[in-house]
Amino acid sequence: DDRIVTMNEQSGDDWQYSLRPRHLREYIGQDKAKDNLDIFIKAALNRQEALDHVLLYGPPGLGKTTLAGIIANEMGVNFRITSGPAINHSGDLAALLTNLNERDVLFIDEIHRLSRNVEEVLYSAMEDFALDIVIGKGPSARSIRLDIAPFTLIGATTRAGALAAPLRDRFGVISRLEYYKPEDLVLIIKRAAEILDIGIEDKGALEIARRSRGTPRIANRLLKRVRDFAQVTGDGVITDQIADEALMRLEVDKMGLDHTDRRMLDSMIKKFGGGPVGIDTLAAAISEENDTIEDVYEPYLLQLGFINRTPRGRTVTRAGYEHMGIPYPEME
Ligand code: ADP
Repeated sequence: DDRIVTMNEQSGDDWQYSLRPRHLREYIGQDKAKDNLDIFIKAALNRQEALDHVLLYGPPGLGKTTLAGIIANEMGVNFRITSGPAINHSGDLAALLTNLNERDVLFIDEIHRLSRNVEEVLYSAMEDFALDIVIGKGPSARSIRLDIAPFTLIGATTRAGALAAPLRDRFGVISRLEYYKPEDLVLIIKRAAEILDIGIEDKGALEIARRSRGTPRIANRLLKRVRDFAQVTGDGVITDQIADEALMRLEVDKMGLDHTDRRMLDSMIKKFGGGPVGIDTLAAAISEENDTIEDVYEPYLLQLGFINRTPRGRTVTRAGYEHMGIPYPEME
């Protein structure tokens, strides 16, 4: 997925790591998650205990990894990162767990993609800080219990619903990250601009914020591309006009839709009368996979209220028609 407006991490996004805030007070937005964590962290520090296990869920690019790193930093412990797909065997997980120091944070991204046997090792680790290890094979096999240091597991997932209930139940703190409001994205953009030494006016930041799909990862990406434009066509400072011109060229419209989003809306309106259209039919019409439509294209259009999911298929809403500049078909 190489669209500039994708929420997924791209290979060229590494530079954004240096923009990650390190302290809770620098983490912009997400007040609900932040306020709760602030209290839990202070309480755990007071008791000199590991923080409860934390599950962070929400769309990609909203700052789950960033927040997990902040938690470890505020707790004053090591931060170990891995991901569901990277842990192939229960032995890999056992190795990670036995290497943790007391109260360390182990971050597992895409935790819904752990395999069953790996997940089962996690249960006793989370609950009792112990590993049950089977030694030998056949009739002589026996199980021994190995203690590990009390630690904090932070799991991240895009869909909390995809998590097995026994795993979900073992998290003491469950926080959902929300799409950011434009005001918050403005602060994130201005902070990033300052770190990267980019001149930007407030209105320029707002213009980028509005088109960033509520997502800091996209905001950072757009900021960097607009900066190039400002340096070549202007005096290097990002104004609203320069941001607008640059983003028009990149085919990111006023609401952050790119040509793929617009093509889907256009097809739904012109080929299917605005719907309802079934996912298979739509996928065939725009030559995309069903999963790509459901996971990549739809969420933001649903969030904007430009499309609806009904039992009979997807429909384009009045707001969707208006955005596309096509009159909404009134009922007779
Ligand atoms: P996720 O793990 O949810 O996919 P990341 O934590 O990697 O998202 O966030 C993507 C980028 O967005 C980070 O590299 C960071 O620069 C920026 N970012 C995310 N959340 C915030 C925030 N609340 N304040 C400032 N920058 C943020």
